Amino acid sequence: MNRIGIYYAFWTHNWAANFVPYVAKVKKLGFDVLEVNSGTVADMTTAERRRLKDTAAKHGIELTACIGLPREYDPASPDRATRERGIAFLKKQARALAETNIHELGGIVYSYWPGCLPAGETDKRPYWDRSIKSMREVMKTAEDCGVTFHMEVVNRFEQYMLNTAAEAVRYIREVGSPNCDVLLDTFHMNIEEDSFAGAIRTAGKHLGHLHIGETNRRAPGRGKMPWDEIFGALKASRFKGSIVMEPFLMPGGEVGRDIKVFRDLRDGVSLDREAARACRFVKRALARKQGVAHA
Ligand code: MN
Repeated sequence: MNRIGIYYAFWTHNWAANFVPYVAKVKKLGFDVLEVNSGTVADMTTAERRRLKDTAAKHGIELTACIGLPREYDPASPDRATRERGIAFLKKQARALAETNIHELGGIVYSYWPGCLPAGETDKRPYWDRSIKSMREVMKTAEDCGVTFHMEVVNRFEQYMLNTAAEAVRYIREVGSPNCDVLLDTFHMNIEEDSFAGAIRTAGKHLGHLHIGETNRRAPGRGKMPWDEIFGALKASRFKGSIVMEPFLMPGGEVGRDIKVFRDLRDGVSLDREAARACRFVKRALARKQGVAHA
């Protein structure tokens, strides 16, 4: 069965956090994977990275990482100095992640977040071409470090470059590295794709990682997301990657502001109980699809 994970920011108001206590927490709640923010890992000292790595190994938790690049690092920027900063930043992420035994980096690494085409521009091709060129450069380091970069497809309100699975497949084919593949997220797919199963089929063997959540970013099993269709399509495409839920329920702080959580979605339920429930929901739904006995 696929490994099931959760993004640490479910519990935090700020993006920067000490990830160490979340390792034991997510293990206890039933997860296999903890997704962390790559920028924070790269800012840690070598000793801090070693401690995170050792803690994850001790608890049998796999770590994955995610980032939305700040605009100053946009690898698609018309400004050469910005692109060069972006390339150097991404290479630094790859090296820091490898040192922490993290081999997957997903998110908006092909442009910046939240990002829009500049006023008056309608053609994204020049941005796309510069992004491809930058990503090919980054891939040399990613391949050396053994870190796979998952290009996250997100909705139009957050980015302009990759809004559909079809665009992401075109993008990664142009990059042409075994360490560059596609990340789909059910929250974004719900806005942009004509069909969940169709998008998963389109990504096919290039789908490296999946983010899941309901249409309002509640944890899986609380809303109207067609989980049966989604898990069925994953099985049909023989998806082997990790499935990481990214629920956001708390308003306030940097996370609440950046994710645009303007009401309390906890409804009096503790975050730990909600995470454990959602983990059981996903594991059972997957087991049913995969014909595996599961308690
Ligand atoms: Mn996501």
